[in-house]
Amino acid sequence: MAKLNICVLRLGHREVRDKRVTTHLFLAARAFGADKVIYSGRRDKKLEERIEKVVETWGGVFEVEYQRDWRKTVKSWGSQDWEVTHLTMYGLPIQDVIPAIRQSHKDKLVIVGGAKVHGGVFELADWNVSVTSQPHSEISALCIFLHELFQGKELARTFEHAEKRIIPQAKGKKVMRRESGKFCLN
Ligand code: SAM
Repeated sequence: MAKLNICVLRLGHREVRDKRVTTHLFLAARAFGADKVIYSGRRDKKLEERIEKVVETWGGVFEVEYQRDWRKTVKSWGSQDWEVTHLTMYGLPIQDVIPAIRQSHKDKLVIVGGAKVHGGVFELADWNVSVTSQPHSEISALCIFLHELFQGKELARTFEHAEKRIIPQAKGKKVMRRESGKFCLN
């Protein structure tokens, strides 16, 4: 089966207020199997650099892109036959709709908000999905969505061309570093 591509669209980034949360959101998106993130709101080059540095160190293919006009992004990805899912506490329960979302095999654009989400997002999305009908955060909602979508397979994903690789330990830390193409202990 062809690889499923996932792009996350983060709406309305605010440079100072959302600095930490958007960074965490993008790191979680990468770790849990997304291929790309797009964000709207304020352009934040430092945020882009932080994520690019993590990709350089820890590997994998992952892109960050800024788009001022979220509506244009949603329309253009939708017209390229990507399925658009908006995560919102007002949507349909994930446990009811995830089988259908998984079954479509279409690449996915997953939208998460920050500050108040524009009503138009609900209309443009193919799916409005809730992860519980209680307020929490874009990070937790995205992680649960990706975990349900991939049915846990994302947990064992490997990241190619990393500079560093963790060797999991019951206690303590073991990290290998790449030197002249080979992994060596630090
Ligand atoms: N006040 C905002 C609104 O009007 O939607 C919600 C802000 S919330 C801190 C930021 C984002 O987290 C939301 O836009 C949504 O993407 C996500 N989120 C929060 N709770 C959620 C839930 N129960 N299910 C799905 N997504 C959720």
